[in-house]
Amino acid sequence: MKPRYFVAGNWKLNKGAAESATFMKALSGALPAGAARDIDVVIAPPFTSLPAALGPGPKDVSLAAQDVFWEDRGAFTGEVSASMLRELGVRYCIVGHSERRLYFQETDRMVNLKTCALLRNGIRPIVCVGERSDDRRAGTMQSVVKFQLSSALFDVSIKGPDELVIAYEPVWAIGTGNVATPRQAEDMHEIIRRTLEKCFGVDIGSRVRILYGGSVNTDNIGGLVDMDNINGALIGGVSLDLDKFIRIITLISQKE
Ligand code: PEP
Repeated sequence: MKPRYFVAGNWKLNKGAAESATFMKALSGALPAGAARDIDVVIAPPFTSLPAALGPGPKDVSLAAQDVFWEDRGAFTGEVSASMLRELGVRYCIVGHSERRLYFQETDRMVNLKTCALLRNGIRPIVCVGERSDDRRAGTMQSVVKFQLSSALFDVSIKGPDELVIAYEPVWAIGTGNVATPRQAEDMHEIIRRTLEKCFGVDIGSRVRILYGGSVNTDNIGGLVDMDNINGALIGGVSLDLDKFIRIITLISQKE
């Protein structure tokens, strides 16, 4: 049996506090009946919008942060810790997004430290991995993704499959309109699945949710989530549009 589907919207540097509150209120009224009961729905607003998004949102929609620092406190100007996120009521946090790797020089080691800090504080990491177009052209995409994943999960232990989420996001597909085909995505998800089973054993590793991310929209989501190891999506651009985001949730809920 497939694990429960999971849909997360990554708002990146969009929507301030007021706009986030408005969106979450509207989401509350527009979610198809029972959808958020059957699917994990998560929104990742910018840090400063988290408190505003928390209040008016549907009770069964969770919030994610888009990043975290690995220390709990100290002289780290500008950083936000996992314990601070937990205090706000944040349940998930994206780590290792390719934009952070590219623009903020985030390394595999940092992704591992952040993953460990989140788990230590009871927040579920959404760990992003994905190859660049050069890697795919060179045929090294599988080893690149396997290396990113095993580095991120070094010394990580979980007690159950829901404590961790993986997002396969090929860099060439993010924000480009070039979505991976369901077959391309599933091939990588199978490799990720085997790695998870090796890290955590088959019982847990076979049930950790693996999301696909990269130019997901209302036309391509159905074919993607039909694949055995695609358990949902991490959605950037389209998650900013309430109607389209709801449509995606509806389409996935019809797969149940
Ligand atoms: C993302 O940034 O995580 C993402 C998947 O973006 P988009 O859906 O816009 O490609």
